[in-house]
Amino acid sequence: FNVPIAVNEPVKSYAPGSPEREAVLKAYKSMYNSKTDVPLYINGEDVLTGKTRTMSPPHDHKHVVGSYHLAEKEHVEDAIATALEARKSWSQLPWEQRAAIFLKAAELIAGPYRAKINAATMIAQSKTIHQAEIDSACELVDFLRFNVQYMTEIYKEQPNSSSDAWNRVEYRPLEGFTYAVTPFNFTAIAGNLPSCMALMGNVVVWKPSDSQVFSAKVIMDVFKEAGVPAGVINVVFGDPAMITDTVLASPDFSGLHFTGSTFVFKELWKKIGNNIHNYKTYPRIVGETGGKDFIVAHKTANAKQVATAIVRGAFEFQGQKCSAASRAYIPKSLWDDVKKFVIEDVKSFKMGSPDDMSNFITAVIHEGSFDKLAKYIDQAKSDRDAEIVVGGGYDKSKGYFIEPTVILTTNPKYTTMCTELFGPVITIYVYEDDAYSDTLKLVDGTSEYALTGAILATDRTAITEATTALQNCAGNFYINDKPTGAVVGQQPFGGARASGTNDKAGSAQNLLRWVSPRLIKETF
Ligand code: GLU
Repeated sequence: FNVPIAVNEPVKSYAPGSPEREAVLKAYKSMYNSKTDVPLYINGEDVLTGKTRTMSPPHDHKHVVGSYHLAEKEHVEDAIATALEARKSWSQLPWEQRAAIFLKAAELIAGPYRAKINAATMIAQSKTIHQAEIDSACELVDFLRFNVQYMTEIYKEQPNSSSDAWNRVEYRPLEGFTYAVTPFNFTAIAGNLPSCMALMGNVVVWKPSDSQVFSAKVIMDVFKEAGVPAGVINVVFGDPAMITDTVLASPDFSGLHFTGSTFVFKELWKKIGNNIHNYKTYPRIVGETGGKDFIVAHKTANAKQVATAIVRGAFEFQGQKCSAASRAYIPKSLWDDVKKFVIEDVKSFKMGSPDDMSNFITAVIHEGSFDKLAKYIDQAKSDRDAEIVVGGGYDKSKGYFIEPTVILTTNPKYTTMCTELFGPVITIYVYEDDAYSDTLKLVDGTSEYALTGAILATDRTAITEATTALQNCAGNFYINDKPTGAVVGQQPFGGARASGTNDKAGSAQNLLRWVSPRLIKETF
């Protein structure tokens, strides 16, 4: 199991005049005006279906950057058939060959494809270069490298044997094919979900988000160049219900790897349940879904640190992270200082198009998201138990821009304290300093989701109390930090309750879901 030691890909600075900045701006410009036509990818071939939909950047929604082809039922059926055919050889390939392919993919992204994948993410998913770099360059590369290491940890795990009987486990891929459904908000997740299943010897039908088509295309180009054989990963775009129904109707469906909304995941789970008698094997179901992630500050916390956790946790990546801080509980004695620092920070942010590299925040993903956020902001402006502390503006004339917004409420169960908004809006509830224990109970009682959360305090007893009281409220729990920014290889990521099956992205535990072990006992 001699594989290269996995290391995190360093984040580049994109300083003015740096070669990486020139390269990404060049890639951005040419892609912006390229009118790229993105095909489906089935059996190693580009498939043009003739039915297309146009794509526009969220920050410039009148400008068409390209189009993508939409699958019909027969294309999805082709993708399934071709995957099953490819499985015959892929599942038998020595693991080193699979590992080498995905390690090569990592190096292609870290090197020659870096500018392109970042530009694709900036244009279609509206990320600043720093956001794109962390996501589509570094995190995706990290997933590809660390998964190879985790795979060897799995393969190494073997039972005891004796001199007359040798027990061994073969970590076989699942029988049949697997299905990856990926969200718009992370290119890294888009690349990870199908590739980690393929790494373990599985074949995949992959449905990326409509807003992710540009980066999905670059990922497939990389996988192809790295040597992923035809049919192993097949990409279909289009009507999600039709694609899912077709996939789940196949008796060979054997696993779902999903990141997206809680509602959709539950619907998929129901459909799988309805089809359960048709499947040859019990399908594996892995999902990372919503979040309503919290920050709790104790009166011993440092106000500046709390403000930074709020601002970075809530507004980086336009708040479009499952892990984004979206509710905070601040003790009365800290509030004036926290408020002052938060307002100062937010007022210093520039908002606008991602190709202006001084912008901190860009547009939210689409009109539906914009309208939802604007509605909650307006509601907070008029509700008696809420007020806007900073932000509250929005404008969709050119792009879907929502100002970073802080809502203050006197009602700890106020709508935006409980509802996932998926945008740059955080709601704050100020509690009496001596109501710390009650506040922790309140957080637990209002945590329908349990993805991430943070406690800020210098008092160890307060930290311990929160760690215990909130033990079921977050799969990733941060002490004296923001609740976002898990790094592959350091903080495996995922949550429970309505946030998912908690099969940590970036872990051996996740990869184990994609194998079906066979124990072989041989006697001598
Ligand atoms: N892993 C990311 C983080 O820790 C969030 C991923 C997501 O939004 O799904 O911030």
